[in-house]
Amino acid sequence: MTKIADVVTGLAKALVTEAPIDLLTYQRDCSVIRPGHAQAMVRPTRRDEVVTLMQRAEAARVPVYVRGGGTMYAGGVNPQAGGVVLDLSGLDRILEIDLARGVVVVEPGVRFGALTKALRPHGMTIGIIPVTGPTATIGGAASAHALGTGSARHQSFADEVVGLEVVLAGGRVIRTGSAAAPDAGFFQRYCIGPDLTGLFLGGDATFGVITAVALWLHPVPAFRETVCYGFPSPVAASAFITDLQTRELTRNIWYGSGYEAPSIKARVLAAYPATDPASLPRFCVGLDYGGDEHSVRHDQETIDSLCREHAGTLAPVFNEVYFRRLRNEDLYWYGFAGYFARSRCAILMTSLPTTRLSAFLGVIDQQRQAQAAFTWGGAVVICKRGLHGGIMAFYDEATQWAAAASAADTAADALIAAGCVPYKSGKIWARQVQSFSAYHEILNQLKTCLDPQGILSSGNLGL
Ligand SMILES: Cc1cc2nc3c(=O)[nH]c(=O)nc-3n(C[C@H](O)[C@H](O)[C@H](O)COP(=O)(O)OP(=O)(O)OC[C@H]3O[C@@H](n4cnc5c(N)ncnc54)[C@H](O)[C@@H]3O)c2cc1C
Repeated sequence: MTKIADVVTGLAKALVTEAPIDLLTYQRDCSVIRPGHAQAMVRPTRRDEVVTLMQRAEAARVPVYVRGGGTMYAGGVNPQAGGVVLDLSGLDRILEIDLARGVVVVEPGVRFGALTKALRPHGMTIGIIPVTGPTATIGGAASAHALGTGSARHQSFADEVVGLEVVLAGGRVIRTGSAAAPDAGFFQRYCIGPDLTGLFLGGDATFGVITAVALWLHPVPAFRETVCYGFPSPVAASAFITDLQTRELTRNIWYGSGYEAPSIKARVLAAYPATDPASLPRFCVGLDYGGDEHSVRHDQETIDSLCREHAGTLAPVFNEVYFRRLRNEDLYWYGFAGYFARSRCAILMTSLPTTRLSAFLGVIDQQRQAQAAFTWGGAVVICKRGLHGGIMAFYDEATQWAAAASAADTAADALIAAGCVPYKSGKIWARQVQSFSAYHEILNQLKTCLDPQGILSSGNLGL
């Protein structure tokens, strides 16, 4: 038997395929990163099958790449070392909705759309929902540091995780947080020594396979409204956002984001071609308020006056032509959001202090001039503190794939030089993460300890 057959044969209830045509779907995610070549795909429906697969893979030293919805733009699921793709979309049960503890426990293949639908009759939702909610999985979001709806209140997906169940490379199962105690279950993340949960969050499957995720529950906001604020410069906008954050006025902001001048111009002129471009703001902040109406109205008044203090004005036209429609549903529509304006969009996600907003926008302008073969764009998501920024390079996949990958790498270096940090690392930031030598050395040591044969997700995080 070949090594791969040793690993996948007889995983009775799991779907297993080795047919090249079926494996085409499993060679890549949505990123600009080079695809891999899986030799088999296994889609288990039970944790025991994951355990067996990991035991066999370690014994046979066969690489394993873990996949959820495959919607990431960092190449983490691309099986560049070959081997097996472990598709977790078949582990899709909601295990427990515990309203008394305020916790929901799910298998990793549960999709955001399915989870929010199941929670709605309870008047509940979860803290962070990415744009890709209909197709992205909870396990993928935990492993890739999701952000989006909820970031202004809660920061990142990892901040909303109570604990995890993880299968390690040799098949050993661990539960983190309070659930490490035999009969306690998930209700507290920080209790026994240091935070082991955090080791697997944002880990891109380099340290283990997440087989259950416990998340905090939150009430669905009773009232929603969107407002856009226009500013004469990014500097004024960043001072405004900083005030929002330091005065903790983000508690009733369900989603907040910021848009640079070219996006504002494109959206407004497409709807109203006679508009004088000089009359448009240089930067727009869109806020999707959510909470009880009285408290939202109260914060909104304070924020309106804060906007005026920073030389801003209301920007109802941008709200009408773009932001309100974008936020009309909890889950976005990619086309309307502007992704895939050409055949593909290389997305590079970064974290930055709010005070670096201008430097971040400067990197986008720099790329526009230096790498004019691509159409560049960018936006920021407002967090409880700091910002998550996305740079996008639209390209034609048939003719520009390799060049776009190289352009993204150049942009990544420019972001680091501007004081930004890799976010959603996968393989797209691998070289830059490797350059943080002390940090990377510790990651390497942890990898050796938890996955001594190096079978899990080779190449992710530069490991
Ligand atoms: C157009 C577009 C818009 C996007 N917008 C957003 C956004 O607003 N916010 C956001 O956060 N992201 C966004 N993303 C990125 C992506 O959709 C999300 O991060 C999503 O949460 C990834 O989930 P997934 O199930 O598709 O993960 P996958 O792509 O399948 O996997 C992502 C990573 O997690 C690992 N992984 C998957 N499952 C597990 C598991 N059970 N155990 C261990 N490791 C695992 C994979 O190996 C990989 O490294 C966007 C992507 C696109 C293409």
